[in-house]
Amino acid sequence: MIPYGKQDITDDDIKAVVDTLNSDFITQGPRIDQFEKDITDKVGSKYGVLVNSATSALHISCMALGLGKEDILWTSANSFVASSNCGLYCGAKVSFVDIDLETYNICLKKLEEKLLEAKTKDCLPKILVVVHMCGQSCDMSKIKKLSIEYGFKIIEDASHAVGGKYHDSYVGSCKYSDIAVFSFHPVKIITTAEGGAALTNDEDLYNKMSILRTHGITRDPNMMENEFEGPWYYEQIDLGLNYRMTDIQAALGRSQFKRVDEYVLQRNNLAKKYDSLLSDLPLQIPMIMENIYSSFHLYVILLDLANIAKSKKDIFISLREKGVGVNLHYIPIPMHPFYKKLGFNEKDFPNSLEYYQKAISIPLYPKLSENEQSYVVETLKKVLT
Ligand SMILES: *Cc1c(COP(=O)(O)O)cnc(C)c1O
Repeated sequence: MIPYGKQDITDDDIKAVVDTLNSDFITQGPRIDQFEKDITDKVGSKYGVLVNSATSALHISCMALGLGKEDILWTSANSFVASSNCGLYCGAKVSFVDIDLETYNICLKKLEEKLLEAKTKDCLPKILVVVHMCGQSCDMSKIKKLSIEYGFKIIEDASHAVGGKYHDSYVGSCKYSDIAVFSFHPVKIITTAEGGAALTNDEDLYNKMSILRTHGITRDPNMMENEFEGPWYYEQIDLGLNYRMTDIQAALGRSQFKRVDEYVLQRNNLAKKYDSLLSDLPLQIPMIMENIYSSFHLYVILLDLANIAKSKKDIFISLREKGVGVNLHYIPIPMHPFYKKLGFNEKDFPNSLEYYQKAISIPLYPKLSENEQSYVVETLKKVLT
């Protein structure tokens, strides 16, 4: 089976992990700070907090921004559930905005309409989580303008977009947001097995997130409420969690991160090839906006079902049977039973529903060979006709 995504682990990666295992610190050691610095140096944000997953990063981002019971968080209706669960963890209400069927990102027109309506009803969101679907950044400068007009904070769920660019900056620079979140799950751009990061330019948010990662405990005398009593002394000053990344994971991440540009270039080259090979088929290929460099975490096609004699289900099953490991990203969040019980209905998000009915993620990862890519295309051609 050719999978839809796959990690690439080199001998150098393995050596970095083994070296860590042979060192004094396998967690809470020097590699965390080093990896944080590697990332912030590259993407251009001031601060970075590594954690054990993007889900944890989203959670502490919401906590640091002060999201609570009286507050509301909005995100895209088509994302992984972590993009909205983070709001529920804080006891806040969540709501969704439908997507744009060309970019698969949050629809800015619908966002603006929803904001206008929320303003009249006095239910504006405190936080908007924008999702850079498949690795293509949302139009951040427009979203930033709206955030100033309507007074909400912005978290970029950049789980897909590590190594991507918006205008002249890497995603993660936080030029247009309060916090940006990366994921290092194996299917994403680079991996630490499990892991994530929260990036920011705001010192206060950085301080809050660094202690929330580790029980709400500080060892920094400047942050303490009482007198620093001596070298043994630490204080819990907030209610945090244990969301720490290990040094073993950070070693793998540092080694992987050296290749991030190379990976993203390989993904873009493969994507361009798909663009041309698939151009005659009854389907929509990904549309990338001007001034955006997608990291191409995913290559999602939308089937033109009106011009295909088969159902999407049959197509999907045939592709899998023939060894093409297609997948779907994602089931609209409001469609999940848990969210239905909260009163949501996917019919309120018609573009996300249409996307769900037509979308297929086809294999894309740096080491996908020319033969494998041809096989994917040939199989797709056969199955569609
Ligand atoms: C993968 C993913 C997450 C969660 O990442 P983890 O590191 O597995 O917690 C969150 N949001 C999006 C959009 C993702 O794709």
